[in-house]
Amino acid sequence: MGNRTRMKERYRRLSFLSDIEGMKNAIGEMRGMFFPGQPELNSNVRPDAQIPVPDEEWFIRTITDKIAGHPENAMEYPFYNEPIFEKPLVGFVRGDDPIFDQFKEIIGPHHFTPWEIMKWQAENNGVTPPDPKDLSVVSFVMPITRNTKNDNALQTDWPAERWAQTRLLGEIFSQRIVREIVADLMERGILAISPDVTPMFNKKRYPKVGWASPWSHRHIAYAAGLGTFGMQDFLITEKGCAHRLGSFVVNVQLAPNRTRPDDIHAYCLHYQGRKCLQCAMRCPVDAITAEHAHDKEACYQKVARSLKYCNKNYHLFIYGCGLCATGVPCESGIPKPLQAGGDKNDKP
Ligand code: SF4
Ligand code: SF4
Repeated sequence: MGNRTRMKERYRRLSFLSDIEGMKNAIGEMRGMFFPGQPELNSNVRPDAQIPVPDEEWFIRTITDKIAGHPENAMEYPFYNEPIFEKPLVGFVRGDDPIFDQFKEIIGPHHFTPWEIMKWQAENNGVTPPDPKDLSVVSFVMPITRNTKNDNALQTDWPAERWAQTRLLGEIFSQRIVREIVADLMERGILAISPDVTPMFNKKRYPKVGWASPWSHRHIAYAAGLGTFGMQDFLITEKGCAHRLGSFVVNVQLAPNRTRPDDIHAYCLHYQGRKCLQCAMRCPVDAITAEHAHDKEACYQKVARSLKYCNKNYHLFIYGCGLCATGVPCESGIPKPLQAGGDKNDKP
């Protein structure tokens, strides 16, 4: 983090070579490398009445407080000190929810169940893996700021600078706060793990779903009732689809706090038979169509090309786009006609 901290108040030179944190982040995302070691379980502590087990309220408060007050929730030059994210949404899924078996079918057998990932963490710490019913997944949505959304909504080809910073710094920030929470729990004697910062995490092309990772924050957030999928495959939540997501697994029983719609497209106007497809109109490479929905491969090719653009113009080693998540009716909330109690005659 040192290099990043030093560069907060000015652009780095020769960013293709000097944005070390950006390069490490990209390789980590693709290959599960360069992450700090996992925190060790403090086996001397047994949570009891003196050290109560954190409950749902604790997780919501902890994540909300970190986003409100953490010094790393800050942009770099020329937006230094602007926050990256706003107040989050937090939801919970039980570790034995049958949806994780469905993910093995829908996404592929490579997608971890909470138990599979926790087994790895338990064995690393020389303890017996907990029963799936004693696990929960904590999922959170970090909405992107109005400034960033406005900037990206004006773009027609490449991501705005604030968007590119959010894409990179937001990911580093998300991993940082989850690591802090996981370390806190492990110190209290409670097994916890963030699957996307383990060596097992890597993105690959799969025959059924194209580019995919073994732990999808988006599918976890859907499972937690935090949102449903749009035409562009982003998760439309009550704070919209312009956000970053995070999730981690804990050896604590937490009660789901939101209702999960059965319809995975419940908050998308097009899928609900309304006129929209504004995301398709925003896409510079026509990767979204009414006939084929989201063409992941065409999208991937465009997003991959943005690495060069972001490097040259924003001095960041990051790729991104998000044009279809900004300047659209689902950008900052569930479109009005689809909100609970919404009138079908409401304008989106
Ligand atoms: S812009 Fe319209 S069609 Fe596209 S995901 Fe949002 S609601 Fe659905
Ligand atoms: S993220 Fe992909 S689908 Fe969306 S606008 Fe960019 S290239 Fe198109």
